[in-house]
Amino acid sequence: MKVDVLTLFPAMFAGPLDESIVQRARKTGALELAIHNLRDYTHDRHKTVDDRPFGGGPGMLLKPEPIFEAVESLAREKTRVILLSPSGRKFNQAIARELVQHEHLLFVCGSYEGFDERIREHLADDELSIGDYVLTNGALPAMVIIDAVTRLIPGVLGDDESSHDESFSHGLLEYPHYTRPAEFRGMKVPDVLLSGNHAEIAKWRVEQAKLRTKERRPDLLE
Ligand code: SAM
Repeated sequence: MKVDVLTLFPAMFAGPLDESIVQRARKTGALELAIHNLRDYTHDRHKTVDDRPFGGGPGMLLKPEPIFEAVESLAREKTRVILLSPSGRKFNQAIARELVQHEHLLFVCGSYEGFDERIREHLADDELSIGDYVLTNGALPAMVIIDAVTRLIPGVLGDDESSHDESFSHGLLEYPHYTRPAEFRGMKVPDVLLSGNHAEIAKWRVEQAKLRTKERRPDLLE
């Protein structure tokens, strides 16, 4: 899968995407990632990417010209152009599964007060939010989404790390896990997990997942 990111802060991406599973996916070529500086698509001496909003109001907006030019030069026939924005669809595991089907994702990170509306209307295929709060710019949301999508690329997770039984994969939160020791400071692992009875263990896990979801996230069951 190819992923391009357009941002004013390319340096923010060093670190989170250079470690762990994402780094491994990049090394094997499962993820081909490139970070582009929006200022490289400006043509004035000051590399201007923003301007004041018509009608007044606080803050600055990302102007259309550099973003249109960047997207037009990076996009291919099958590219999905995704704006990061608090007004977007709220990102979740189902959307991660939807995005991993695409050959090429192009994330456009906002800054300041956000985007000139024409970018939304005429350039973006999708607009995603990572939650109901406002961050400084779109770099962290882009990294969150790239991480979640990368682990779904076939072959990226080893068997030990399989995404099949994780939270949200069956519309439920994950069941509780335990490892050795079977008893720690008087706290015991549930007997069923030590029983060796795989059918009973599977049944217990489904029950626990349902219970936990009902208690903590009843909205997932609606
Ligand atoms: N004025 C905008 C509003 O009220 O919706 C907020 C702009 S925010 C300070 C700057 C940029 O950060 C946004 O354009 C977007 O790219 C990114 N951003 C902030 N919070 C986000 C979120 N929850 N999800 C996705 N992107 C977000």
